[in-house]
Formats: sequence, C-alpha cells, structure tokens
Amino acid sequence: MSTKSPSITFNNGVQMPALGLGVFQSPPSETVGAVEAALKTGYRLIDTAAAYANEREVGEGLRRSGIARDEVFIETKVWISDYGYDATLHAFDKSSRKLGVERLDLLLLHQPLPSAFERTLDAYRALEKLLADGRVRAIGVSNFMPKHLDRLLSTASVVPVVNQIEVHPYFQQTALQRVHEKHGIATQAWSPIGGVIAYGGHKKTALDDSTLLGVARQHGKSAAQVMLRWHLQKGRSAIPKSVKPSRISENFDVFDFELSREQVAAIDALDTEVRGGPDPDSITLDNYGKAIPEA
Ligand code: NDP
Repeated sequence: MSTKSPSITFNNGVQMPALGLGVFQSPPSETVGAVEAALKTGYRLIDTAAAYANEREVGEGLRRSGIARDEVFIETKVWISDYGYDATLHAFDKSSRKLGVERLDLLLLHQPLPSAFERTLDAYRALEKLLADGRVRAIGVSNFMPKHLDRLLSTASVVPVVNQIEVHPYFQQTALQRVHEKHGIATQAWSPIGGVIAYGGHKKTALDDSTLLGVARQHGKSAAQVMLRWHLQKGRSAIPKSVKPSRISENFDVFDFELSREQVAAIDALDTEVRGGPDPDSITLDNYGKAIPEA
C-alpha cells in the first residue's frame, strides 16, 4: 500500500497533505494514542480545535510519534468565544502552548458569528497579523457560507486558503464549492464519511449505503474508503476521525485504487442537500459560547 497522501497547494503556495486525522469528540485519554497511531501509519495532517479540548493530547501524540515537527501539518481553530482582535491573538497563544508548537501550519476561524460579524472580522484581522508575523503558515475559515465569504473578502487583505465545511455523499454543498473555486479557496471536508449523521441517534449512515457498499465491493474496499477516495479524486482535503488504530489504518489505505467516472457520478447522485450539522446562521455566543481555558 502507498503510504503517502497527495498534497493540496494553497493559494499562498503552502502545501498540505490532503488526507488527515480529525479529533472532534476524541476523548483526551484516547487522543494521544490516536494521533501517534495515525502518524506511525503515515498521516502527516492532524485537525484539532480549541473547542475540542484535546490540543494538549494532540501535541503529546506528535512528540511520542518521534516524527519531526516540520514533517507534520498541524491545524487548529479559534472558538467563537475568543473572537475579537486581542482575544484571537491570545487564542493563538493558548493553542500553541497547549499543542507545544511555536508555529502553527494552519489556523482557522471555527465558525462565522453571523449575529456579531464585526467580531468575526476582527478575529480574522488577528489571523492576518499572526500570518504577517510568521506565527502561522496559513489562515482560513470553517463553516462559512457564500454570504459570509463575500463579507469577509470585501474587507480582508488575505484570501483564506481553506474553508472547512461539512461534505459527505449525503450533503455535498456543490454551490459553495464552486464559490471556493472562484476565489482559490481549498475545500476541506469535515465528517467526510458522514459521521455527523450518526451523532444524535441511530439513523442509517452513509457507511450502510447500498450504492457505496456496491462500489466498495467492486474494489475490495470499505464504504469509508470509497468515500475518502471520492473526496481525494474531487481535489478535496478530508479529515476522517477515529480513535481505533485499525480504522485509522483503513482510512489511510486509499491510494491504491481509482473510482471510475461512473462510480463518482453514482456517489454525486446521493446528495440529499440536507445538512447533518447545525446551520451556520444559528450559531450565537448565547447558544454555543464556552470559555476556552488558559494553557
Ligand atoms: P467522520 O465522518 O470522520 O466520522 C467519524 C465517525 O466514524 C466516528 O464515530 C468513528 O468512530 C467512525 N469511523 C471512523 N472510521 C471508520 C471506519 N473506517 N469504519 C466505520 N466507522 C468509522 O466524522 P467527524 O464528524 O468526526 O468529522 C471528522 C473531523 O472533521 C472531526 O474529527 C473534526 O476534526 C472535523 N470536524 C470539524 C467540524 C467543524 O465545524 N469545523 C465539525 C465536525 C467535524 P471511532 O472513532 O469509534 O472509530
């Protein structure tokens, strides 16, 4: 099996491995082992966030892996409670100390804050300052819809390199991805194997989908592997989460097969246009605010 992810080159020339490990809802006690297992498998991209409360453990997993810091791409996100110019500069300090790294590869605003968009813009100005000072190699956003990107781009001096959004076969956001292409913003898929659909209950997930299972059988792969291959062939980054070493390894074993044009079209046709996660416009400090502890 090939052990290297293809890369995505950002609009500022920085390169990021396309396939990485996500750690949302990875309990701190299991995060060190998951990150270490991923890095030993060949992953070189880890996606965390201040709000996941496991940045310290991501840093510990990185150090335990023995892999050099500059070989691993570390991405984290500023939570909405830390938006505002000074607060966001301080949020960088908290995250970098918890991770134990001086410079971050990519720092994102986790959500737009539509009811306080001026604060979102102030937070982004802080990201631009961190970029100018060499504290981060690239900056971006997450969960921004076209109208949020329009507002941001009307004042920003740096185009975000990435918008990390919900994308899986059941919710593909193709119109938003076209906006990304227009501006040279890379799409990074969260819940790339449809994890979000299962968060709240026992709904049928994409992992049980008969079309995906049919394609998987034709390649001797799993539905998860087919979904990840689909993201890569579409030029997206994907950050599947698992705390289980066997699944971490399975999710990285996707570089030795190719979906046909018909198979890609069959997966494209699964879009329900119904999101699994919250509507970005519904996020407010009142309902989602939470203090991010000091390092
Ligand atoms: P995923 O689509 O990655 O699915 C994760 C779920 O699938 C977990 O329950 C995991 O369980 C299970 N799983 C993983 N691999 C397999 C496999 N091969 N076969 C069967 N089941 C599997 O969903 P996430 O929502 O976790 O998204 C991935 C990452 O995206 C997050 O960890 C986070 O980094 C990011 N994210 C960002 C958001 C944002 O707002 N910016 C929102 C949500 C996620 P187990 O661990 O037990 O293996």
